[in-house]
Amino acid sequence: MYKSKAYSAASATSPLARTTISRREPTEKDVQLEILFCGICHSDLHQVRNEWREVMPTVYPCVPGHEIVGRVTKVGSGVTKYKAGDLVAVGCMVDSDGTCPNCREGLEQYCPNLTLTYNFPDKHGAGPVTYGGYSDSIVVHERFVLRVPSNLSLAGTAPLLCAGITTYSPMRHWGVTKGKKVGVVGLGGLGHMGVKFAHALGAHTVVFTTSASKKDDATRLGADEVVISKNEGEMAKHAGSFDFILDCVSADHDINAYINLLRRDGTITLVGAPEKPLAVKAFGLLFGRRSLSGSAIGGIAETQEMLEFCGKNNITSDVEVIPIQKVNEAYDRLVKSDVKYRFSIDMASLKAE
Ligand SMILES: [Zn+2]
Ligand SMILES: [Zn+2]
Repeated sequence: MYKSKAYSAASATSPLARTTISRREPTEKDVQLEILFCGICHSDLHQVRNEWREVMPTVYPCVPGHEIVGRVTKVGSGVTKYKAGDLVAVGCMVDSDGTCPNCREGLEQYCPNLTLTYNFPDKHGAGPVTYGGYSDSIVVHERFVLRVPSNLSLAGTAPLLCAGITTYSPMRHWGVTKGKKVGVVGLGGLGHMGVKFAHALGAHTVVFTTSASKKDDATRLGADEVVISKNEGEMAKHAGSFDFILDCVSADHDINAYINLLRRDGTITLVGAPEKPLAVKAFGLLFGRRSLSGSAIGGIAETQEMLEFCGKNNITSDVEVIPIQKVNEAYDRLVKSDVKYRFSIDMASLKAE
């Protein structure tokens, strides 16, 4: 075991503060990396404030962070994929059983024995739970380490590991390609990545937003059309025309308005997580054999594919880079959606402490 600098929350009501945690020394198949950037995901905030206590109660101290980009500092004797100096990334998962049907199909995110990057029982016993990326280093099995294309900005690459793969995976699964009409609901951390991917995959991309002020930005990000969702007349023009809609909204909203925009056999996929159950009208689904579905991040192979797609198409997240000392301020701003479109923590600020 060795000591690593980190920022942690001591309770649901305490701010994140500087601490020291224990990490395991790399075992045979482990990769140790120096963390250079870590994105701030809305899940970090939910977990820190114990807002998901019914599903995933938070164990304190909690070190969040699952959008990690760094440089390899040390590898175990059995590691074949990486060597010291490589630019790598770690996302939401750090382990799985590797043997269940999901793992065997490369869908580790649905493994019943999955270990998430933070707040999950630490099988290696370095701590009671896993500690995430708000830290200067981390040790991860090579199977869960990804390679970062050399042409991308590292600060903007970090959010690809959660916001990126969360929006890329459903688009690939439901066949978003050239010639398809794709909607993206909500233009935040997830939505802005959804627009970039739909556009890069060649789809006719339509952004739905509640605020007219986001129109120019949506167009800049790659939208062919922008619809103000409160305007019923504008919505009606698109009835029955979408192949696929990605719903990135985590607040309460009327999903029926979007189901009605799908063509026959069209799919709307939820990637946001509203607190209250959604009210779904059956007829919207019956007429047109439409589907309502959900999707969670993506498997390791697909995450690597996504990173390579980003390298080829020069896609990164739009980020505001902050020092870790501003993380509590960033959380308060995140609640108000006051960021375009993701915070990325420059971990040099932690090393300097
Ligand atoms: Zn996340
Ligand atoms: Zn498994």
